[in-house]
Formats: sequence, structure tokens, C-alpha cells
Amino acid sequence: MSNFKLCKYTKTCPVFKGEVAINGTPLSIYRNVFCRRGDKGWNNCEQYLEFKVNSLSKNTSFNVKNR
Ligand code: SF4
Repeated sequence: MSNFKLCKYTKTCPVFKGEVAINGTPLSIYRNVFCRRGDKGWNNCEQYLEFKVNSLSKNTSFNVKNR
């Protein structure tokens, strides 16, 4: 069994797909350090945190009642 844990956003992530430049870090290195590292890598990835926040805000509804 492998310790390899791939981020769940790889299919939609512009960073993983190489569509967005990363500050001088080669994409293959970035993927190994962040995308394939499990929670340790994902939680240090700004794009991951942005996906997570967006997902939480879509799934949260506020029920405001008039008083
Ligand atoms: S770890 Fe970050 S860069 Fe990698 S696929 Fe997930 S969101 Fe994209």
C-alpha cells in the first residue's frame, strides 16, 4: 500500500494543471511537496485553502428570521 495521498482538487486546480505560474518552483516539485503529501501539504497550499473556503461558503446557508 502506498503513502501517496493526492489532493482531491487535482482535476479542477489551475495550479496542478500548470495553468498558473508558481513563484519560481518547478511544477513537479510543487506537486510533490503540496499536492501528493496529504494534509501536511494541502494545508500549506493557498489554492487548497481557497477551494476549501469556497466549498464551505457554498454549503453553508444562513437562516435569518425577521423579528
Ligand atoms: S494541493 Fe493545492 S495546488 Fe495541489 S492540487 Fe490541491 S489545491 Fe491544487
